[in-house]
This record gives sequence, C-alpha cells and structure tokens, in this order.
Amino acid sequence: MTQTTKPKIVVLGSNFGGMTTARFLRKALRDKVDITVIDKKSNLLFVPNIPETVMSDKDPQNNMHLQFLPFYERDKTRFIQAEVKSIDPETQTVEFTPNERPGEATEKIRYDYLVVALGCRLAYDEIEGFTEYGSTVSDCYYGNKFREYIWGGHYKGGPIAIGSARFHQRTTNRPAWLPTLTAACEGPVMEMSMLLATWLRKYQHQKTAERITMFTPGKILGEDAGLDLATQFANLAEGMGESIKYDTQDIKRLTADGVEFANGDSLDAEIKIVLPDWKTHDFLKPLPITDDMGFVVTDKTMRNPKYRNIFAVGDCAAVTVPKLGAIGDAEARVTVRQICDDLGVETKKFQKELDPVVICWGTMGDDKAFYLHTNKFYGGDTGYLKIGHLYYMMKMSFKAMYFETGGTPPPWGLPLAELVGDHW
Ligand SMILES: Cc1cc2nc3c(=O)[nH]c(=O)nc-3n(C[C@H](O)[C@H](O)[C@H](O)COP(=O)(O)OP(=O)(O)OC[C@H]3O[C@@H](n4cnc5c(N)ncnc54)[C@H](O)[C@@H]3O)c2cc1C
Repeated sequence: MTQTTKPKIVVLGSNFGGMTTARFLRKALRDKVDITVIDKKSNLLFVPNIPETVMSDKDPQNNMHLQFLPFYERDKTRFIQAEVKSIDPETQTVEFTPNERPGEATEKIRYDYLVVALGCRLAYDEIEGFTEYGSTVSDCYYGNKFREYIWGGHYKGGPIAIGSARFHQRTTNRPAWLPTLTAACEGPVMEMSMLLATWLRKYQHQKTAERITMFTPGKILGEDAGLDLATQFANLAEGMGESIKYDTQDIKRLTADGVEFANGDSLDAEIKIVLPDWKTHDFLKPLPITDDMGFVVTDKTMRNPKYRNIFAVGDCAAVTVPKLGAIGDAEARVTVRQICDDLGVETKKFQKELDPVVICWGTMGDDKAFYLHTNKFYGGDTGYLKIGHLYYMMKMSFKAMYFETGGTPPPWGLPLAELVGDHW
C-alpha cells in the first residue's frame, strides 16, 4: 500500500468495538486519513445471539460470523490479519505478527492515533474443573458443546446451575462516577435461565424451572441494572420457580456433582453454565496505559490521560463496566467524535463524552425477550425492564441490521425501537 502523509489511525481489534470505530471513522473522515485495522481473525463473532441460537438447536458457526473484509475493502481501509504483540506509546508504534501461516515474522506499524479495542480474555482456564464439568455459550465451540449435550439427549433431568465468577475491577484511581461490579456481565446468566426454563417446559416432559438456580458473586443478581430492576427480574425468575443464590463471592471449583463457591457454600448441579472473570491480555499489563488489572485507562472522552492520541473502546477499556457491547458501541462513537474534533471535521451527531447506559436484550424462548435499559447503576434516573415478542424481534432485527450495514446501524434504530416498545 502506498505511504501517504495523511494522519494514520490504527485500530486494534475488529469485533464490536473496533469495527464500529473503524467504519464510523471512515464515514466521517472519508479520504482525510489512512486507517488500518488489525485483528487475529478475519470475521466478527456476534456473541450476543449465541445463547438463542444454541437453544434453538442451530449451529452458531453457520450464522454468527460477519465477514467484514468486503466492508473494509469498500471503505479503502487496510486490514491486517495478525496477533498484536505490543504497543509503544513513546515511539507510537505497534508490534504485530501476521498469523495466516505459522512462522511469520514480527512487524511494526506507526500511528498518529491508536484505538485499542482488543476485548478481554474470558478466563475459563482459571476455573478449576471447567473443562470436565463446565458449560457456557460465549463462543461457537462451547455453544455447540452445550447444544450437543442438551439436544443430543444427554440431559438426565438433574438440577441446573447458572452463574458467574467474580470480576476483578481496578483497585486504584477509579473515577468517582464508576461503581464497582462483582460480575462482569450477568445478562447471559439471566438470558440462559429464561431460555432453559422454556426449554424444560417444552421439551422435557414434567421438568420445570424449579430445577434452575442462578448464582451471583454479588449481593444482587444484575446489580448493573440497579436495585429496582434487578428486583423485578428476580421476582420474575422466582415467580417461574427458579431460585437465586447470592453473595457466593466467586466460583471455587466445578465438580461432577455441582459448583463449590468461595464463601464455602455449594450447589448440586448436573449442568453448570458459567461466565468467567473478564481479564486483560497479558501483553497489555505492563504498559503505561493500563491500570492495575491491565485494562486501558481512559477518561470519558475515551482518551488515555497521559497519551491523548491513544483511545480504548469496548471490553478492554477500564471504564467499560459492565462489559457490554452496547457500552462499547457508545465509546466507539465518542472516539470518532474526538478524532474528528482534532482533525477539524464536524460530526455533531456523536457525543463528545461517554454517558454510559446499560442496554440488554435477553431472549426467553417462545419468541419472547426481556429488554433492559437503565443508567441507574451510574446514578441516573432512567430504568425500565420490558418483556414481550416485540423485544425478541428487536434483538433479531438488530443482528440483521448490524450485518447488513457492516457494524454501522443507523442512529434512529434504537430510539425508534424503544418508542415502539414503550407503547406496546
Ligand atoms: C454470552 C454473552 C452474551 C452477551 N450478550 C450481550 C448483549 O446481549 N448485549 C451486549 O451489549 N453485550 C453482550 N455481551 C457482551 C459483548 O459480547 C461484549 O461486550 C463485546 O463482544 C465486546 O466487544 P469488543 O469489541 O470490545 O471485544 P471483543 O468482542 O472481545 O473483540 C475483541 C477483538 O480483538 C481481537 N483480539 C484480541 N486480542 C488480539 C490480539 N492480541 N491481536 C489481534 N487481535 C486480537 C479478537 O480477535 C476480537 O476480534 C455478551 C457477552 C457474552 C459472553
């Protein structure tokens, strides 16, 4: 590719955070910048719809991958398939190793602006007994493993435990506006409990939701929803016959018979569906842009306080709490606004600063979903939890729109859906 004197923007990661940033940057800045995206894989994994796909007995490998290369080609954005190895904020360079074939040599790329959108390491490997006894739905491999178990006739009708390991957020210099959370992302726990309740009712004669227990390391399940909405959800689940175990502190180990918790308690369970700790990538930990847990430090403009040309978007950012794609999407738009402001290009449609909102759709089976929209976790006063067929349609339509537009759904999509949803 020819070298130009245009500002060079390098985006690390091309899932929700990275792809949305790269594509909106190109839409806003057109040919004023060179954009390079680096990811170790050449497609986007649409994680939020894996639970529904698995519980519909469909292989997520068939429809959860968005092939983003045609969008980048159309945008004249360069894509490099490579493993990012390190970042040097002083020399403004990134080291990466192309990974299409084993044995490739490490290279360097220089940037004027860097967007780190590398997500997290979902630390299943730190849960003792997970390989032998655990299940989950956060990628196609694990999703299919669980799907084969339940749809392949292996379920013996025993108790089902669904819950999270403890999330470790930074302990030093946390901004006053950002509360701590004990579980990184509990939406999938809530969603899987609802999907399994429907599955038991429909496909397991006389087996009911009473077999399901959700567990949480915190004092509230779904504390990022705020106390009143979390209580509404707990009432819904308990009304269906499910149980909730609170304050487990952490998962100590999984065994053939169940889950043992750090607080000394335990649960008998045939099926153990767990969400792990969301941890940083090892190479980020020693860098001067990360906190004591290795998450990239930013202010609400998504810039690193020391290196103002480095941005973080999505799960790898320290301010992304909970770890939610919807928050990453808002951060991507703020990042685009900030870079456009620097380069003197007007983009008033994007906010200058992050104003985080928890937005979560969870499918429930029977073509129904719950929809949660709240900022109460951050001290705001907006909060509602809705249930119905319309919210199922919203979740499914969002994926269709995301794939169709290559990660740039129109800004009216969500407000329109909420307007309709609220008056349904
Ligand atoms: C089961 C489940 C259900 C969920 N449901 C929802 C939901 O309904 N709504 C919602 O908003 N959120 C949901 N989430 C959370 C959501 O999936 C994440 O917040 C989102 O994926 C984060 O996007 P990201 O781009 O920051 O990180 P990721 O999606 O983790 O992407 C990071 C990218 O960086 C790449 N990468 C990582 N390391 C390197 C490296 N060293 N070199 C090169 N490339 C690298 C990866 O290949 C990947 O493409 C759910 C999560 C789970 C597990």
